[in-house]
Amino acid sequence: MSSWDTADLAAADKKYLWHPFTPMAEWCAPGNEPIVLVGGEGALLWDSRGREYIDGNSSIWTNIHGHNHPYINAAIKRQLERVAHTSFLGFTNPAAIELARALVRLFPAGTLSRVFYSDDGSTGVEVALRIVAQYWHIRSQNRRTFIAFRHGYHGDTVGAASLGAAAMFGTTLMHGVPVRQVESLPALQDLPSSQANQTAAVVIEPMVQGAAGMRLWPQDTLAGVRRWCDKSGALLIADEVMTGFGRTGRMFASEHDKVYPDLMILGKALTGGYLPLAITLVTEQIFSVFLGDVEDERTLFYGHSFTGNALACSAARASLDLFEQEQTLSNLGAKISLLSEGLGRLQQNPSIRETRQCGFIAGIELRAEAFTGRLRESKRLGAEVCLAARGRGLLTRPIGNTIVLMPPFCTTDVQLNHALGAIRDSIEEVRHAAA
Ligand code: PMP
Repeated sequence: MSSWDTADLAAADKKYLWHPFTPMAEWCAPGNEPIVLVGGEGALLWDSRGREYIDGNSSIWTNIHGHNHPYINAAIKRQLERVAHTSFLGFTNPAAIELARALVRLFPAGTLSRVFYSDDGSTGVEVALRIVAQYWHIRSQNRRTFIAFRHGYHGDTVGAASLGAAAMFGTTLMHGVPVRQVESLPALQDLPSSQANQTAAVVIEPMVQGAAGMRLWPQDTLAGVRRWCDKSGALLIADEVMTGFGRTGRMFASEHDKVYPDLMILGKALTGGYLPLAITLVTEQIFSVFLGDVEDERTLFYGHSFTGNALACSAARASLDLFEQEQTLSNLGAKISLLSEGLGRLQQNPSIRETRQCGFIAGIELRAEAFTGRLRESKRLGAEVCLAARGRGLLTRPIGNTIVLMPPFCTTDVQLNHALGAIRDSIEEVRHAAA
């Protein structure tokens, strides 16, 4: 029996809270009882009514080694007993130093070698934009425009949103950053040299555009973008907030194309999904431009109160250890194959338009025409399927008509097959209900 008072919690949530990306009228409607998550272990989560779920989207793409992992828990507790947080402005701390050293060692010499800490994917992208803008300013070059790809998403702070979210959600924001969106690599290659020469940097989610609905890039896209940047002199920013730390089957998605960007942003799974932390990695060449006299505007005036937070850094360090201790990447290969097989079976279903996979990320796009009645035209098709999946013990979120399945790497074969079966059965349930 669960000891939580779900009715009281749900009522207080509706009275006091405002949730992200959430139509709050629907959320607060009398018929809606939000799921109150109270515990987790491995790939499983429990709610306040004692129901068990597979964490099918890894708690918004963050968790990799599983919830409540004793090794990460212990690392956080150890740090907590020393000190939780101290300023990174004018001071440093061992957890932040050790994490930076371990992270830089993941990259070949001469590539990414400097770590700037921030708090989440959006602020990590924001830092990258600020570094690049100041880099060109110091070098007295008129490169002000950022190029981003249509359907891309890089976060919600104003600068980061200018790259993608603003166009994606049609939000009228105060656009802080001049951005040119292009459709694809060929469109980038077609830009006139007058535009190429004014480009500060190209920003891309390597291999797969996440928030676009797990949209896969054609092979070698990143390599092509790298070549374009080398030719035009623009910098290359890889946003690996979603793809970093094994999600695509390699430690970083950029490794598939055997190229390294000039800046890389990592977040989400950096701490194993335990605490908010992001990093912006840059090359020594970029960093060196910021060395010089204070009067020469060589200081990066950027930072946050919780920059370099020791608890988050210790969780991240523990997460990196686990990659070695548990042979995370080599074990993931078999699970990626199992996911492929499951998606192959789903693909036979006439209610599914397409399944897309990149490593341990799957997008299952529904075919709206296969559904009758109100759902055919509805933007809620994916949401209805995910709602039905809850009743079968699977938590995930749709992106439009695409169901996302990307559970933690520790998900067992049985759990993965259960999740795939839950999606299959939920699609059928919604199709019949709509008929
Ligand atoms: N970049 C990418 C590729 C993302 O997928 C996200 C979040 N989904 C972000 C940036 C923003 O990260 P955060 O939500 O942690 O600010």
